[in-house]
Amino acid sequence: MKEVLSSRGHFDVDQLYENVKKYNRKVSRATVYRLIPHLIDSGVITETLRCQGRISYEKIQGESRHDHIVCLGCGKVIEFRDKKLQFLIDNICKKYDFKSIEHRLGIRGYCKKCMEKEEDAGNNQAEI
Ligand SMILES: [Zn+2]
Ligand SMILES: [Zn+2]
Repeated sequence: MKEVLSSRGHFDVDQLYENVKKYNRKVSRATVYRLIPHLIDSGVITETLRCQGRISYEKIQGESRHDHIVCLGCGKVIEFRDKKLQFLIDNICKKYDFKSIEHRLGIRGYCKKCMEKEEDAGNNQAEI
């Protein structure tokens, strides 16, 4: 399990299952599903974003405060860190007498490639 979780990046349950299977062929999908809440509870992984009914997770690492932009077209995930955003969140919390432990921001949309694809499709339709 540790080998599986040593990989960086985002994964969903199915991807995790595929990875676990490489090390242990006997593992069932149900086991992996049951494992997820346990891994979250023990602070090993965190839910990063939900997109089209799929939930992505990632390993919690030291400096893991970052946010995500996800493309609804191809599923590409971009990670970003922005000090101004953190500053803004700190300010909001101050305003409400709140200490923030974590925040989760997910921006959903379409990447440039998918936008271009969409435009092409539109043009083709116009020609017909
Ligand atoms: Zn895309
Ligand atoms: Zn991430």
